Amino acid sequence: MNKASSIKCDICGAESILIHEGTRDNPDINVYECTSCHTKQLDRIVDNDYDQGFMNEKLGMTAEEIADRLSECRIDDYRRYHMVKDWCRGKRVLDFGCGFGGFLQNISQDAGDVAGVELGCDERGYLTNLGYDVRSSILDHEIPFDVITMFHVFEHLKSPQKWLNDIAGFLKPGGILFIEVPNANDVLLSLYENSAFADFTYWSAHLYLYTKESLTRVIKENGYFEIESDGQFQRYPIANHFYWLAKGKPGGQNVWTFLNSEEINKEYSKMLEEQNMCDTLFFRMIKKGDIQ
Ligand SMILES: [Zn+2]
Repeated sequence: MNKASSIKCDICGAESILIHEGTRDNPDINVYECTSCHTKQLDRIVDNDYDQGFMNEKLGMTAEEIADRLSECRIDDYRRYHMVKDWCRGKRVLDFGCGFGGFLQNISQDAGDVAGVELGCDERGYLTNLGYDVRSSILDHEIPFDVITMFHVFEHLKSPQKWLNDIAGFLKPGGILFIEVPNANDVLLSLYENSAFADFTYWSAHLYLYTKESLTRVIKENGYFEIESDGQFQRYPIANHFYWLAKGKPGGQNVWTFLNSEEINKEYSKMLEEQNMCDTLFFRMIKKGDIQ
């Protein structure tokens, strides 16, 4: 299959060069990195587009499989809950891409009202049965929100500006938007240059991997939001990184458990943060008043 050595960066227009041939699920899709804003983007988008109902098929997951999925997400759900709860007290909160609702269930303790957007039928069915208001599109919700959260969703979206416009339309003025995405500058890629991890992490559904600078650019260009804070943190511990480096495989934190020291992981995370090389970016922004 022919592939270009470079393409134009969708985010800033600069040259984006070929850095990886194939993704973990499709050998014909290649990954490019912008020479200016360092966004990583794919050269081809297959029918995995959120706009077209990506993952909208019914899978028929069993109760046990759903419990396993919720259990896998529990640590992230709880961390996210603690990061955002102060802004959600008594508010109307939407989780965009809510999955099986681990975060929604946590935040419903503090929020005045919660709702979700989720394309997966199993997820929607499960949450609807529990009494949650979950729709397949944000456009199906009728009442605007005080807070919208997007945890590991934005990197899946083909038209980030269009989605920011839609989200702005469903946020009250002064409302808060939280976005969490993987960091394109993850130390395993940028410094350790771990090829096994690159083969594993590049995926046809991650259309854009943003850096702090490129996500800032997207939000500023959109104009509806003022960035209040941006930060990063390390989700995966040092045992995970050692295992990638030694064995080229994920899950090291579950194998080399003796390395799971809270103090060491905290220090490691701090060092990565100082180098802008954590695995996760987190933005909090406020919707400005009406734009003319
Ligand atoms: Zn760029």
